[in-house]
Amino acid sequence: MASSIRTLNPATGKIEKEFQPHTSQQIDQYIQQAENTFKIWRKETFENRKKLLKSVAQKMRQQKEHLANLITTEMGKPLRESRIEVDYSANIFDYYADNAEEFLKPETLNTEKGEAVVISEPLGVILGVMPWNFPFSQIARFAAPNIMAGNTILLKTASNIPQCGEAFEELFNTSNAIAGIYKNLLISGKETSALVEDARIHGVSLTGSEAAGASIAKIAGENIKKSVLELGGTDPMIVLEDANLDKVMAGTINGRLRNAGQACTSSKRIIVQENIYDQYLSSLTDYVKNMKVGNPMEEDTDMGPVSSESALNTLLEQVNQSVENGAKLILGGHQIGTEGSFMAPTILTDLKPGMKAYDEEVFGPVVCIMKVKTIEEAIQIANDTKYGLGASIYTENIELAQKLALNIDCGMVSINKQVSSSPELPFGGTKRSGYGRELSKAGILEFLNKKLILVA
Ligand code: NAP
Repeated sequence: MASSIRTLNPATGKIEKEFQPHTSQQIDQYIQQAENTFKIWRKETFENRKKLLKSVAQKMRQQKEHLANLITTEMGKPLRESRIEVDYSANIFDYYADNAEEFLKPETLNTEKGEAVVISEPLGVILGVMPWNFPFSQIARFAAPNIMAGNTILLKTASNIPQCGEAFEELFNTSNAIAGIYKNLLISGKETSALVEDARIHGVSLTGSEAAGASIAKIAGENIKKSVLELGGTDPMIVLEDANLDKVMAGTINGRLRNAGQACTSSKRIIVQENIYDQYLSSLTDYVKNMKVGNPMEEDTDMGPVSSESALNTLLEQVNQSVENGAKLILGGHQIGTEGSFMAPTILTDLKPGMKAYDEEVFGPVVCIMKVKTIEEAIQIANDTKYGLGASIYTENIELAQKLALNIDCGMVSINKQVSSSPELPFGGTKRSGYGRELSKAGILEFLNKKLILVA
């Protein structure tokens, strides 16, 4: 967890910019402003809300290079991936701008009690607490639906990406948003939890670790406030013996190694049937040996650093402990160079319960592979986790895959492709991966009052 609010470039290890946290008086003013603005914004037409979101989306696209540079500088993903993230964030804004009115239209109910209608009213000021791994799109999927619904937003991003947080607010400021619709808060995680007690805040959405989620949800519960939690995962990727190897390789590269493996829905446990195992491991080993790991600003870089030195140390510890307990290290397992926090892409096999790479979320470029004989064994391992975010299944037998999908305890199953997100598809998990949904129609329904009006 970051201890101060600053940009520490993980590719160089250098501090590039430091920020003064907001004082408690400032935070109080921002909450008050968000509450005052809510009274105006809740009455605003969909047309005007839409204009604001469209303007923000347009500015994101216009400033793509600048914003992508900030993302890469602060958390280290290759610039190419950062550009895609900025475009994706703009698409989320467009999606809610175009669809919110339809999603929130009044519903007439069939009842003998009279004329019944349910209307969707915004709740008020909503607090968003967001992580660093997708600095822009994580904010977008929280902010866009809520602002279209008529809520106002206070946003706390991770302490290691303050420039991204400030830049997001600036997109609103330069789009002539009324002050108080969107405010970026520069505060620590601990202070953020306390904000949930404030009566002017009506809900909280947190994307991040299990520990942070539990802490904020506890306070939300005590204060009878709605929360949405998008937490960690150890998503299984099941490869059956009839799978198409090209699809499996694409799924592994995009689903495990992109963003240096730092995605909640990254395929963190790859479960492979024995008949295809050797061929898969050999193709993967060839690919990983040839990956270009280095300066994330260079166009042909496949993988940049992991987000911080402490993240790197945690990963090395997880790999070492697993190897000490019998896992086989095929490639990697070490730091690259001494400057910045670069981790060699790693392949581990023969994982078993009791090994950290089996039991814990491994948030980095470590491909963890297990060989199984039967489909039943694959499903048993897939469900042998406290998390339940996503899962993927690779087979040419789609009917079988659709049946197996029903047996996996999680929120999203993807067949022949890695789990990923898209504005129109619901995103979220079960078990210790959290509750509630983001994106799609489901995402805009989280922080609403569904008010019944009945004429007898
Ligand atoms: P993190 O340490 O939990 O931080 C996430 C956010 O929570 C940050 O803004 C952080 O602020 C804040 N925070 C930390 N402790 C808090 C507390 N006690 N109360 C309130 N806020 C607190 O997680 P991370 O390292 O940034 O992100 C990685 C984790 O997020 C992984 O587990 C990953 O799987 C998960 N994730 C889940 C999803 C999903 O959609 N399910 C998506 C992306 C990531 P500071 O930075 O100031 O500590």
